Amino acid sequence: MHCPFCNADDTKVIDSRLVAEGHQVRRRRECVECHERFTTFESAELVMPRVIKSNGSREPFNEDKLRGGIQRALEKRPVSMESVEESLNRIESRLRATGEREVDAKLIGNLVMEELKILDKVAYIRFASVYRSFEDIREFGEEIAKLER
Ligand SMILES: [Zn+2]
Repeated sequence: MHCPFCNADDTKVIDSRLVAEGHQVRRRRECVECHERFTTFESAELVMPRVIKSNGSREPFNEDKLRGGIQRALEKRPVSMESVEESLNRIESRLRATGEREVDAKLIGNLVMEELKILDKVAYIRFASVYRSFEDIREFGEEIAKLER
């Protein structure tokens, strides 16, 4: 990286160590031009990608909104909050793992469906019927038949 003092193109790392219980790397750098020293911290980027909605607009990822959607589907169903949180974590880590800055809302919807399928079949059908807005009753029947298999 550039030297923050003289803006030279090149700096060298003179020391590197793990900090913050291994979640960060602290590097001591020295400018090859002016020999000033400075420190940088490196950590994993845990920023969630932004969401591309079906109309093309973008919005920040909203965990509360996602939790709300899942809870609505699970209303009065015998599923613990702990299981919901675990599902949320799985969905979020899969979104991060895409490495994308932006993801389609559709992808999130599909991940929610996968989680609900495991958590609770009724909630899955509820969510799918709203989310996919089944074309007709036949399609809905097919989806239920798939679950029963
Ligand atoms: Zn410099």
